[in-house]
Amino acid sequence: MNAHAAALKRQENALLLSTYDRVPVVFERGRGVYLYDTRGRRYLDFLSGIGVNALGHGHPAIRKAIAEQAAKLVHISNLFYHPLQAALARRLTSISGMDRAFFSNSGTEAWEGALKLARSNAKMTGRNGRPRWRVLALDNSFHGRTFGSLATTGQAKYRKPFAPLMPGVEFVRFNDVADLKAKLDSTVCAVGLETIQGESGIRPLSCEFLEAARSLTRKHHALLLVDEIQCGLGRTGNWFAYQKFGIRPDIVTVAKPLAGGLPLGAILTTNQVARAIHPGMHGTTFGGGPLACAAAIAFLDTLKRERILPHVRKVGRHLAAGLARLQKKHAAIREVRCIGLMAGVELDSGDLAKRVVPAMLEGRIIINRTHDTVLRLLPPYIITESHVDEVVNALDQVLTALSRASQSHAASGGTH
Ligand code: PLP
Repeated sequence: MNAHAAALKRQENALLLSTYDRVPVVFERGRGVYLYDTRGRRYLDFLSGIGVNALGHGHPAIRKAIAEQAAKLVHISNLFYHPLQAALARRLTSISGMDRAFFSNSGTEAWEGALKLARSNAKMTGRNGRPRWRVLALDNSFHGRTFGSLATTGQAKYRKPFAPLMPGVEFVRFNDVADLKAKLDSTVCAVGLETIQGESGIRPLSCEFLEAARSLTRKHHALLLVDEIQCGLGRTGNWFAYQKFGIRPDIVTVAKPLAGGLPLGAILTTNQVARAIHPGMHGTTFGGGPLACAAAIAFLDTLKRERILPHVRKVGRHLAAGLARLQKKHAAIREVRCIGLMAGVELDSGDLAKRVVPAMLEGRIIINRTHDTVLRLLPPYIITESHVDEVVNALDQVLTALSRASQSHAASGGTH
């Protein structure tokens, strides 16, 4: 570890809550698809701050929007009007097919608000006073760290330390229509799911499951809540991943890339569901502030103007082909899942995945590991095919070197 990172580690260990196990690199600036550390070394960013910096670092349109808005007005609270929330909502409703928006500061807050809307909607549309407050979520899902989001996150390691959580949540086996059918009845107010599970290793829902979730929730008067915080807003080459399946959810949540790196999330919903919320029932001090909204408008307008979505599809196909070639060559790759520029490379051991990430970093390429065995790639949408080739070649070399090292370790009886 270099001296600067080591010094920061010592300071943070003494001063911060111990929530993160950081990679020992200190970044100073970013430009395009590259990050630069304090020693001036350049890294190819294939993670974009966990799916946030979709236009890379320092995109001129985002910089301009932030600088101009910062000079005018940064914060006003939701007690007053400013012109940008409606302008942003118009864009988001137009690309999503939803009718209305609410702006939060993060993904988890957007999901919390979606759960509140679902509970309130169930009360408003209640039948014969029968209780209707159960929520179904999926095994291995991830919806965030606040209590409601945590309660619907289907991974015990995140929930357990904080129990008891919000009551009434049950988990359905991933892509298991029979399990969904067995658990979904008229006591359920919402089924919540990620169209493509991100944290659990880039796992797309099957068309059959999503269609069943849509028709069964309709049948039982429950809402379908779709969390597109990681997979939405162009990441898959469509504006939203659910659009590929031709369904219309009742509520969609987005966040990560929305405001070009500034914190902003949104709940998108229908006019019908929006009737369940009235002034005073939900709100936020910061959410939907002028600065974040200006950046988000610039982000969405840039995706359109620069025809970024077709580019994501094209480069995504190149990435999928490159990773498929690697899978053929390396027995350690169990599965490759690649949708647009969202890729998971599942390895046959967590230990190997743990060693691949720092080895890639040695070669100045940033990726990460999720769900123990999966290498996750969430590059900026502006990468080119030659960046993809660079990463695929580097991964090839790293996997070859690590498997050679483990073979020679085994051959020597594991003595070195
Ligand atoms: N939902 C999904 C699918 C996510 O991937 C995340 C974050 O990784 C969240 C919710 C939580 O978002 P945030 O970290 O902005 O609260």
